[in-house]
Amino acid sequence: MEPGTSTSDERVLPPVEEMAAWLDGRHPGGDGVLASRARETMLAEVGPAVHMRGLLEFSNSCTQGCYYCGIRNDAGRSVRGVRRAESVPLRFTLSESEILDAARHCLNAGFGSMTLQSGERRDPAFVAFVERILRRIKAETTTPELPEGLGITLCVGEQRRDVYERFFNAGAHRYLLRIETSDPDLFARLHPPPQSFDRRVQALTELQEIGYQVGTGVMIGLPGQGGEELARDISFFAAIDADMIGMGPYIEAPGSAYVEMNRRSLLPAGSTAERLRRALRMIAVTRIALRDVNIAATTALQALSPTGREAGLMFGANVLMPIVTPGSRRDSYQLYQGKPCIDEAAEACTACIIGRAARVSRPVTQNGWGDAPHATRKGRIPA
Ligand code: SF4
Repeated sequence: MEPGTSTSDERVLPPVEEMAAWLDGRHPGGDGVLASRARETMLAEVGPAVHMRGLLEFSNSCTQGCYYCGIRNDAGRSVRGVRRAESVPLRFTLSESEILDAARHCLNAGFGSMTLQSGERRDPAFVAFVERILRRIKAETTTPELPEGLGITLCVGEQRRDVYERFFNAGAHRYLLRIETSDPDLFARLHPPPQSFDRRVQALTELQEIGYQVGTGVMIGLPGQGGEELARDISFFAAIDADMIGMGPYIEAPGSAYVEMNRRSLLPAGSTAERLRRALRMIAVTRIALRDVNIAATTALQALSPTGREAGLMFGANVLMPIVTPGSRRDSYQLYQGKPCIDEAAEACTACIIGRAARVSRPVTQNGWGDAPHATRKGRIPA
Protein backbone atom coordinates (compact mmCIF):
# COMPACT_ATOMS: atom_id res chain seq x y z
CA MET A 1 0.00 0.00 0.00
CA GLU A 2 1.30 3.44 -0.90
CA PRO A 3 1.89 5.47 2.27
CA GLY A 4 -0.36 8.50 2.25
CA THR A 5 -3.31 6.71 0.67
CA SER A 6 -4.48 4.31 3.36
CA THR A 7 -7.08 4.97 6.01
CA SER A 8 -5.89 5.08 9.62
CA ASP A 9 -7.41 1.71 10.41
CA GLU A 10 -5.07 0.23 7.85
CA ARG A 11 -1.96 1.95 9.23
CA VAL A 12 1.14 0.42 7.67
CA LEU A 13 4.44 2.09 8.35
CA PRO A 14 6.85 2.74 5.51
CA PRO A 15 9.92 0.50 5.78
CA VAL A 16 12.54 1.70 8.28
CA GLU A 17 15.13 2.13 5.49
CA GLU A 18 12.77 4.39 3.56
CA MET A 19 11.91 6.51 6.60
CA ALA A 20 15.62 6.69 7.45
CA ALA A 21 16.42 8.05 3.99
CA TRP A 22 13.73 10.74 4.30
CA LEU A 23 15.01 11.66 7.77
CA ASP A 24 18.51 11.98 6.37
CA GLY A 25 17.23 14.48 3.77
CA ARG A 26 16.90 12.04 0.88
CA HIS A 27 13.16 12.18 0.19
CA PRO A 28 12.57 12.26 -3.60
CA GLY A 29 12.09 15.93 -4.48
CA GLY A 30 13.58 17.10 -1.17
CA ASP A 31 12.24 18.39 2.13
CA GLY A 32 9.61 20.58 0.40
CA VAL A 33 7.92 17.54 -1.12
CA LEU A 34 8.19 15.70 2.20
CA ALA A 35 6.47 18.61 3.97
CA SER A 36 3.70 18.76 1.32
CA ARG A 37 3.06 15.08 1.69
CA ALA A 38 2.90 15.39 5.48
CA ARG A 39 0.41 18.25 5.17
CA GLU A 40 -1.77 16.22 2.80
CA THR A 41 -1.79 13.36 5.31
CA MET A 42 -2.58 15.77 8.12
CA LEU A 43 -5.51 17.33 6.23
CA ALA A 44 -6.93 13.90 5.39
CA GLU A 45 -6.52 12.39 8.84
CA VAL A 46 -6.82 15.14 11.46
CA GLY A 47 -7.89 18.22 9.50
CA PRO A 48 -6.38 21.72 9.34
CA ALA A 49 -7.18 22.88 12.89
CA VAL A 50 -4.47 23.70 15.40
CA HIS A 51 -5.39 22.62 18.93
CA MET A 52 -4.12 24.76 21.79
CA ARG A 53 -2.97 23.46 25.16
CA GLY A 54 -2.04 26.19 27.62
CA LEU A 55 1.23 24.94 29.12
CA LEU A 56 1.53 25.55 32.85
CA GLU A 57 4.89 24.65 34.36
CA PHE A 58 3.66 24.51 37.94
CA SER A 59 6.75 23.24 39.77
CA ASN A 60 10.44 22.91 38.94
CA SER A 61 11.27 20.60 41.85
CA CYS A 62 12.54 17.27 40.59
CA THR A 63 13.99 14.18 42.21
CA GLN A 64 15.63 12.90 39.03
CA GLY A 65 18.99 13.75 37.53
CA CYS A 66 18.66 13.54 33.73
CA TYR A 67 22.08 14.86 32.71
CA TYR A 68 20.81 17.23 29.99
CA CYS A 69 18.09 18.94 32.02
CA GLY A 70 18.21 22.46 33.45
CA ILE A 71 16.03 21.64 36.46
CA ARG A 72 17.58 18.26 37.35
CA ASN A 73 17.85 17.50 41.06
CA ASP A 74 21.47 18.66 41.13
CA ALA A 75 21.15 21.44 38.55
CA GLY A 76 24.13 23.75 38.41
CA ARG A 77 26.41 21.31 40.21
CA SER A 78 28.24 18.94 37.94
CA VAL A 79 28.47 15.40 39.26
CA ARG A 80 32.19 15.67 38.37
CA GLY A 81 32.73 18.49 40.78
CA VAL A 82 32.43 21.66 38.69
CA ARG A 83 29.87 23.96 40.22
CA ARG A 84 27.95 26.45 38.12
CA ALA A 85 26.15 28.36 40.82
CA GLU A 86 24.70 30.85 38.35
CA SER A 87 22.77 27.98 36.81
CA VAL A 88 21.07 26.76 39.98
CA PRO A 89 17.34 27.41 39.45
CA LEU A 90 15.23 28.94 42.19
CA ARG A 91 12.90 26.10 43.15
CA PHE A 92 9.18 26.89 43.11
CA THR A 93 5.76 25.28 43.21
CA LEU A 94 2.80 27.44 42.26
CA SER A 95 -0.02 27.82 44.75
CA GLU A 96 -3.45 26.40 44.06
CA SER A 97 -4.81 29.86 43.37
CA GLU A 98 -2.00 30.62 40.88
CA ILE A 99 -2.76 27.35 39.10
CA LEU A 100 -6.48 28.10 39.00
CA ASP A 101 -5.77 31.59 37.64
CA ALA A 102 -3.81 29.99 34.80
CA ALA A 103 -6.62 27.51 34.15
CA ARG A 104 -9.12 30.38 33.95
CA HIS A 105 -6.82 32.16 31.52
CA CYS A 106 -6.86 29.06 29.27
CA LEU A 107 -10.63 28.91 29.54
CA ASN A 108 -11.09 32.59 28.70
CA ALA A 109 -8.68 32.34 25.80
CA GLY A 110 -10.82 29.53 24.34
CA PHE A 111 -7.98 26.97 24.43
CA GLY A 112 -10.26 24.20 25.72
CA SER A 113 -7.29 22.29 27.10
CA MET A 114 -4.26 22.78 29.29
CA THR A 115 -1.10 20.84 30.08
CA LEU A 116 0.13 20.64 33.66
CA GLN A 117 3.86 19.99 33.71
CA SER A 118 6.38 19.69 36.53
CA GLY A 119 9.53 17.92 37.57
CA GLU A 120 9.14 14.42 38.93
CA ARG A 121 8.12 14.00 42.56
CA ARG A 122 6.40 10.97 44.06
CA ASP A 123 5.98 11.98 47.68
CA PRO A 124 2.44 11.76 49.12
CA ALA A 125 2.13 15.54 49.57
CA PHE A 126 2.88 16.16 45.88
CA VAL A 127 0.51 13.43 44.70
CA ALA A 128 -2.30 14.75 46.90
CA PHE A 129 -1.61 18.31 45.67
CA VAL A 130 -1.85 17.29 42.01
CA GLU A 131 -4.99 15.27 42.63
CA ARG A 132 -6.60 18.23 44.38
CA ILE A 133 -5.75 20.75 41.67
CA LEU A 134 -7.05 18.41 38.97
CA ARG A 135 -10.41 18.20 40.73
CA ARG A 136 -10.55 21.94 41.28
CA ILE A 137 -9.69 22.78 37.68
CA LYS A 138 -12.38 20.43 36.41
CA ALA A 139 -14.96 21.82 38.82
CA GLU A 140 -14.11 25.47 38.17
CA THR A 141 -13.81 25.43 34.38
CA THR A 142 -17.15 23.85 33.55
CA THR A 143 -19.12 25.99 31.07
CA PRO A 144 -21.90 25.40 28.52
CA GLU A 145 -19.18 25.10 25.82
CA LEU A 146 -17.06 22.78 27.99
CA PRO A 147 -19.55 20.77 30.08
CA GLU A 148 -16.69 18.63 31.45
CA GLY A 149 -14.32 21.51 31.99
CA LEU A 150 -10.91 22.00 30.41
CA GLY A 151 -9.27 18.94 28.89
CA ILE A 152 -6.16 18.21 30.93
CA THR A 153 -2.88 16.67 29.84
CA LEU A 154 -0.64 15.70 32.74
CA CYS A 155 3.14 15.61 32.46
CA VAL A 156 4.57 14.82 35.90
CA GLY A 157 6.88 11.94 35.06
CA GLU A 158 6.92 8.36 36.25
CA GLN A 159 4.53 7.52 39.06
CA ARG A 160 3.11 4.36 40.60
CA ARG A 161 0.16 2.79 38.77
CA ASP A 162 -2.28 3.59 41.59
CA VAL A 163 -1.16 7.23 41.40
CA TYR A 164 -1.82 7.32 37.66
CA GLU A 165 -5.30 5.95 38.48
CA ARG A 166 -5.91 8.63 41.09
CA PHE A 167 -4.94 11.36 38.62
CA PHE A 168 -7.15 9.82 35.92
CA ASN A 169 -10.11 9.62 38.28
CA ALA A 170 -9.49 13.24 39.27
CA GLY A 171 -9.89 14.39 35.68
CA ALA A 172 -6.63 14.11 33.71
CA HIS A 173 -7.40 12.25 30.49
CA ARG A 174 -4.13 12.61 28.61
CA TYR A 175 -0.62 11.86 29.87
CA LEU A 176 2.63 12.90 28.26
CA LEU A 177 5.69 10.79 29.12
CA ARG A 178 8.56 11.04 26.68
CA ILE A 179 10.78 8.04 26.06
CA GLU A 180 13.47 10.52 24.85
CA THR A 181 15.14 7.76 22.79
CA SER A 182 14.01 4.26 21.86
CA ASP A 183 17.62 3.04 22.13
CA PRO A 184 17.91 1.45 25.61
CA ASP A 185 21.70 1.97 25.78
CA LEU A 186 21.48 5.65 24.91
CA PHE A 187 18.59 6.04 27.35
CA ALA A 188 20.79 4.59 30.10
CA ARG A 189 23.65 6.98 29.25
CA LEU A 190 21.32 10.00 29.44
CA HIS A 191 19.38 8.99 32.55
CA PRO A 192 21.25 7.99 35.70
CA PRO A 193 19.75 5.34 37.99
CA PRO A 194 17.17 4.71 39.28
CA GLN A 195 15.63 5.55 35.90
CA SER A 196 15.42 2.67 33.45
CA PHE A 197 14.23 2.21 29.90
CA ASP A 198 12.14 -0.83 30.77
CA ARG A 199 10.43 1.01 33.60
CA ARG A 200 9.59 3.92 31.27
CA VAL A 201 8.06 1.56 28.70
CA GLN A 202 6.10 -0.18 31.45
CA ALA A 203 4.78 3.19 32.59
CA LEU A 204 3.55 3.99 29.07
CA THR A 205 1.76 0.63 28.97
CA GLU A 206 0.15 1.18 32.37
CA LEU A 207 -1.09 4.62 31.37
CA GLN A 208 -2.78 3.16 28.31
CA GLU A 209 -4.32 0.32 30.29
CA ILE A 210 -5.85 2.83 32.68
CA GLY A 211 -7.47 4.65 29.78
CA TYR A 212 -5.31 7.73 29.23
CA GLN A 213 -4.58 9.05 25.81
CA VAL A 214 -0.83 8.65 25.85
CA GLY A 215 1.80 10.91 24.39
CA THR A 216 5.49 10.30 24.04
CA GLY A 217 8.41 11.61 22.04
CA VAL A 218 12.15 11.85 21.65
CA MET A 219 14.95 14.37 21.52
CA ILE A 220 16.47 15.06 18.13
CA GLY A 221 20.20 15.63 17.75
CA LEU A 222 21.39 13.05 20.26
CA PRO A 223 24.89 11.71 19.76
CA GLY A 224 25.01 8.73 17.39
CA GLN A 225 21.48 9.42 16.20
CA GLY A 226 20.99 9.32 12.43
CA GLY A 227 18.04 8.69 10.18
CA GLU A 228 17.90 5.00 11.01
CA GLU A 229 17.78 5.62 14.75
CA LEU A 230 15.02 8.20 14.32
CA ALA A 231 13.08 5.83 12.05
CA ARG A 232 13.28 3.24 14.84
CA ASP A 233 11.91 5.86 17.23
CA ILE A 234 8.88 6.23 14.94
CA SER A 235 8.46 2.44 14.90
CA PHE A 236 8.53 2.58 18.71
CA PHE A 237 5.73 5.20 18.73
CA ALA A 238 3.67 2.88 16.54
CA ALA A 239 4.46 -0.19 18.63
CA ILE A 240 3.19 1.43 21.82
CA ASP A 241 0.22 2.84 19.88
CA ALA A 242 0.81 6.45 20.96
CA ASP A 243 -1.98 8.99 20.48
CA MET A 244 0.16 12.11 20.81
CA ILE A 245 3.74 12.95 19.90
CA GLY A 246 5.85 15.75 21.37
CA MET A 247 9.43 16.01 20.10
CA GLY A 248 12.06 18.65 20.16
CA PRO A 249 15.65 19.25 19.29
CA TYR A 250 18.22 18.16 21.89
CA ILE A 251 19.62 21.34 23.44
CA GLU A 252 22.04 21.42 26.34
CA ALA A 253 20.66 23.47 29.25
CA PRO A 254 22.16 25.87 31.74
CA GLY A 255 22.31 23.77 34.89
CA SER A 256 22.85 20.52 33.02
CA ALA A 257 25.69 18.20 34.04
CA TYR A 258 27.88 19.58 31.26
CA VAL A 259 31.13 18.00 32.37
CA GLU A 260 29.47 14.65 32.83
CA MET A 261 27.79 14.95 29.44
CA ASN A 262 31.12 15.73 27.83
CA ARG A 263 32.78 12.78 29.58
CA ARG A 264 30.00 10.48 28.39
CA SER A 265 30.07 11.93 24.85
CA LEU A 266 26.52 13.17 25.28
CA LEU A 267 26.81 16.71 23.96
CA PRO A 268 24.34 17.60 21.18
CA ALA A 269 25.37 16.41 17.73
CA GLY A 270 25.11 18.56 14.61
CA SER A 271 24.74 22.30 14.05
CA THR A 272 21.67 24.23 15.14
CA ALA A 273 20.46 24.35 11.53
CA GLU A 274 20.92 20.62 11.07
CA ARG A 275 19.09 19.82 14.29
CA LEU A 276 16.19 22.03 13.21
CA ARG A 277 16.04 20.39 9.78
CA ARG A 278 16.07 16.94 11.36
CA ALA A 279 13.37 17.92 13.86
CA LEU A 280 11.12 19.16 11.06
CA ARG A 281 11.71 16.05 8.97
CA MET A 282 10.93 13.97 12.05
CA ILE A 283 7.56 15.71 12.42
CA ALA A 284 6.79 15.12 8.73
CA VAL A 285 7.81 11.46 8.67
CA THR A 286 5.95 10.80 11.94
CA ARG A 287 2.83 12.35 10.41
CA ILE A 288 3.13 10.25 7.25
CA ALA A 289 3.75 7.07 9.25
CA LEU A 290 1.34 7.47 12.20
CA ARG A 291 -1.27 9.54 10.33
CA ASP A 292 -4.10 10.31 12.80
CA VAL A 293 -2.18 11.24 15.97
CA ASN A 294 -1.74 14.71 17.42
CA ILE A 295 1.76 16.13 16.93
CA ALA A 296 2.99 19.24 18.75
CA ALA A 297 5.11 21.98 17.25
CA THR A 298 7.06 22.38 20.48
CA THR A 299 8.51 25.53 21.97
CA ALA A 300 11.99 24.01 21.65
CA LEU A 301 11.73 24.41 17.85
CA GLN A 302 11.54 28.14 18.43
CA ALA A 303 14.75 28.02 20.45
CA LEU A 304 16.54 27.10 17.23
CA SER A 305 14.66 29.46 14.91
CA PRO A 306 12.30 32.40 15.55
CA THR A 307 9.78 30.75 13.21
CA GLY A 308 10.47 27.18 14.35
CA ARG A 309 6.93 26.54 15.52
CA GLU A 310 5.35 27.82 12.29
CA ALA A 311 7.75 25.53 10.43
CA GLY A 312 6.58 22.64 12.63
CA LEU A 313 2.98 23.35 11.56
CA MET A 314 4.09 23.41 7.91
CA PHE A 315 5.66 19.97 8.35
CA GLY A 316 2.46 18.38 9.68
CA ALA A 317 2.13 19.33 13.36
CA ASN A 318 -1.36 20.23 14.66
CA VAL A 319 -0.86 21.23 18.31
CA LEU A 320 0.63 24.37 19.86
CA MET A 321 1.32 24.87 23.55
CA PRO A 322 1.31 28.54 24.53
CA ILE A 323 3.09 28.97 27.85
CA VAL A 324 0.77 30.22 30.60
CA THR A 325 3.30 29.97 33.44
CA PRO A 326 3.44 33.27 35.37
CA GLY A 327 6.17 35.47 33.88
CA SER A 328 8.01 35.69 37.20
CA ARG A 329 8.61 31.90 37.24
CA ARG A 330 9.60 31.24 33.65
CA ASP A 331 13.26 31.98 34.16
CA SER A 332 13.40 29.14 36.70
CA TYR A 333 11.94 26.55 34.35
CA GLN A 334 14.55 26.13 31.65
CA LEU A 335 14.78 22.53 30.55
CA TYR A 336 17.09 23.65 27.74
CA GLN A 337 19.18 26.65 26.70
CA GLY A 338 17.63 29.51 24.73
CA LYS A 339 14.06 28.69 25.74
CA PRO A 340 11.89 31.39 24.17
CA CYS A 341 9.16 33.47 25.80
CA ILE A 342 10.70 33.54 29.28
CA ASP A 343 10.14 37.30 29.49
CA GLU A 344 6.51 37.14 28.38
CA ALA A 345 3.24 37.18 30.26
CA ALA A 346 0.50 34.65 29.51
CA GLU A 347 -1.60 37.24 27.66
CA ALA A 348 1.27 38.12 25.32
CA CYS A 349 1.98 34.44 24.60
CA THR A 350 -1.66 33.80 23.81
CA ALA A 351 -1.87 36.61 21.25
CA CYS A 352 1.49 35.65 19.78
CA ILE A 353 0.70 31.98 19.33
CA ILE A 354 -2.67 32.56 17.69
CA GLY A 355 -0.81 34.87 15.27
CA ARG A 356 1.68 32.10 14.51
CA ALA A 357 -1.11 29.73 13.47
CA ALA A 358 -2.72 32.46 11.37
CA ARG A 359 0.57 33.18 9.58
CA VAL A 360 0.54 29.66 8.17
CA SER A 361 -3.20 29.92 7.38
CA ARG A 362 -4.36 27.44 10.00
CA PRO A 363 -7.59 27.80 12.01
CA VAL A 364 -7.44 27.43 15.78
CA THR A 365 -9.81 25.17 17.73
CA GLN A 366 -11.97 27.21 20.11
CA ASN A 367 -13.39 25.72 23.31
CA GLY A 368 -12.69 22.11 22.34
CA TRP A 369 -10.45 19.42 23.80
CA GLY A 370 -8.92 18.64 20.42
CA ASP A 371 -8.32 14.95 21.07
CA ALA A 372 -6.49 12.98 18.41
CA PRO A 373 -8.74 11.04 16.02
CA HIS A 374 -6.50 8.07 16.75
CA ALA A 375 -7.63 8.10 20.38
CA THR A 376 -11.27 8.32 19.32
CA ARG A 377 -10.87 5.38 16.96
CA LYS A 378 -9.25 3.35 19.74
CA GLY A 379 -12.03 4.24 22.18
CA ARG A 380 -9.70 6.18 24.48
CA ILE A 381 -12.13 9.03 25.07
CA PRO A 382 -13.48 9.44 28.61
CA ALA A 383 -17.17 8.65 28.89
S1 SF4 B 1 13.87 15.79 32.30
FE1 SF4 B 1 12.13 15.72 33.75
S2 SF4 B 1 12.63 14.01 35.13
FE2 SF4 B 1 14.54 14.53 34.07
S3 SF4 B 1 15.53 15.98 35.47
FE3 SF4 B 1 14.35 17.21 33.99
S4 SF4 B 1 12.36 17.58 34.98
FE4 SF4 B 1 13.40 15.90 36.10
